[in-house]
Amino acid sequence: MVGRADLHMHTTYSDGTLSTHDLLHRAKQAGLSIISITDHDNASAIDEALPLAAELGLEVIPGVELSATIGDQDIHILGYFFDHKNSRIEEYLSFFRIERVRRAERIVEKLNDLKIPLRLESVLDQAGPGSVGRPHIANALVEEGLTETYHEAFAKYIGFGRPAYERKYQVSPKEAIELISSASGLSFVAHPGSNVDEKVLVELIQEGVDGIEVIHPSHSPERVAYYNGIVSEYFLLACGGSDFHGGKRNDYEVFGKYFISDEQVEMMRRRL
Ligand code: AMP
Ligand code: ZN
Ligand code: FE
Ligand code: FE
Repeated sequence: MVGRADLHMHTTYSDGTLSTHDLLHRAKQAGLSIISITDHDNASAIDEALPLAAELGLEVIPGVELSATIGDQDIHILGYFFDHKNSRIEEYLSFFRIERVRRAERIVEKLNDLKIPLRLESVLDQAGPGSVGRPHIANALVEEGLTETYHEAFAKYIGFGRPAYERKYQVSPKEAIELISSASGLSFVAHPGSNVDEKVLVELIQEGVDGIEVIHPSHSPERVAYYNGIVSEYFLLACGGSDFHGGKRNDYEVFGKYFISDEQVEMMRRRL
């Protein structure tokens, strides 16, 4: 059987609900043979995952999902095979983690100005050891009974264009791509189907991205064929995965169903 490689999933080090340990066990049960944990702006799961993966007979590729922006448009850049002990990467990730806490503070202030008495502590409790994001703020709002649902939190307050929206620290996709390549890794445009049009995609290719996330739950078969065409045209690599967060949407049903082949992972290694 061809090995199944799912190169996109999250733990409690960002907005996933499972620990590294539980995620690896789930991945094994789901029939995967190669995985990459790609927490948002956080690579802390890697050192935990490597010894556990060896015990389970899973292969773990170092990964991360970096937050970049073009104006108000979020662009996610996936990095793989980089040296996660590289000092530039480590410094960048700890800097970005602090910036995320500062932004959460600004969002909480805006909410307080709107007479929504959310406390920063309850957001930080939701985030635990991980990168603080709007999903934690939404969960805290629900937990404190300040909104009915997670989606209402975005729709009323913290979604783009809503009154308590705050930008993240601005990093260009080019800077994210260069950071990964300076740590000897490969970079990919994450789930372009969700918000990256062809013009921006071509710009990212010109800026040196190594590939595109072709397989993703948000991509229809037509989109997958379209991105495979771009991959061939520009001599790029293709990656893919489930973007599993442990219980969001229909996560458990899709885990194990979105993957690329071990041969495609081998092509990445040859490119390094
Ligand atoms: P952050 O990186 O902190 O800006 O959080 C971004 C995450 O928030 C995304 O990956 C989504 O999971 C979630 N998100 C953003 N906008 C919405 C929205 N309008 N409704 C629900 N979830 C959203
Ligand atoms: Zn996420
Ligand atoms: Fe993403
Ligand atoms: Fe993701």
